Amino acid sequence: MTDIATSDDTATQLATARIAFRNELLDAGILIASSVAGVYGRSGTFESIITGLDALLARMAAPLNAQVLRFPPVYPRVDFERTDYIASFPDLSGVVSSFERGDKEHAALLSARADGEAWDGWLDPTDVVLTPAICHPLYATLEGRLPEEGGVFDLAGYGFRHEPSEDPMRMQSFRMREFVFVGTPDAAQVYRDSWLDRAIETLASLGLAVDAVPANDPFFGRAGRMLVNAQLRENLKVEIIVPLYGDLHEGTAIASANCQRDHLTAAFGILTHDGDVAHGACVAFGMERTALALLRTHGLNPAEWPEGVRDLLGLCST
Ligand code: AMP
Ligand code: ZN
Repeated sequence: MTDIATSDDTATQLATARIAFRNELLDAGILIASSVAGVYGRSGTFESIITGLDALLARMAAPLNAQVLRFPPVYPRVDFERTDYIASFPDLSGVVSSFERGDKEHAALLSARADGEAWDGWLDPTDVVLTPAICHPLYATLEGRLPEEGGVFDLAGYGFRHEPSEDPMRMQSFRMREFVFVGTPDAAQVYRDSWLDRAIETLASLGLAVDAVPANDPFFGRAGRMLVNAQLRENLKVEIIVPLYGDLHEGTAIASANCQRDHLTAAFGILTHDGDVAHGACVAFGMERTALALLRTHGLNPAEWPEGVRDLLGLCST
């Protein structure tokens, strides 16, 4: 989530450049705006890039023999509560509410609505939350001892983060593809580091000017600042960034490689074959962000992209 601008002036120019890029994407019909910032429709052209990326990532990950699993974009609130997401990122969280009361309350809701008043006070939080990171539902299913070699999983799906923004790279609902390892601490570290190289190589093969930098996630509040420091000091998360606006900004993260240590495995009682608390590591690719980085780098018309890039993404027949 690296997002460092150097001065007020640069920050204004950067905001303008981001809005200009957003408008170009909307004018070209690649993204379709809604009335809410960061919530878009996607065109067929955009989706063909995502499909190509998905296939490329699957080829890249083939040697891992990862178990393919897909979860829906909501998951149980009781599992969400076992993570500390609501402590670290309350502002990004999303809980699904619905109507669970009786006829009397429904009548009151309808009357408020007819008067143009707020009616959502009659809704209550349900048993599901919007998935903020697509590896979280996986961890909730792995309680107990792992096989000796640990586990490797291939995940994909929509995540939600409540961060409305005019920056087209910062959406509220977007797809991730993740390759997750759980097993011994040593194996988790090796997995993260080797994956970082592989991810950089793959993204660079698409002509993206990628760089790897330590991440500083936007943990919430004063306690959060200590978590940011620990994350940086212990090099727990590395982001792969691409510069999109020349000298105005060092770059936006299109993927991240994370050492989660026992952060989620302890919460969900996930043990190594020997019965110790397992460690987790994951590499997450932002699908929309990678597609947008390609559009920014090579132009808004994929038919005119370099032949090698089109080949890698299977776009040659389109
Ligand atoms: P993270 O779990 O924060 O490392 O996110 C994984 C990847 O998802 C990031 O590297 C980005 O590519 C992508 N991502 C994170 N937040 C957003 C967002 N608000 N909009 C679009 N993509 C995002
Ligand atoms: Zn993850």
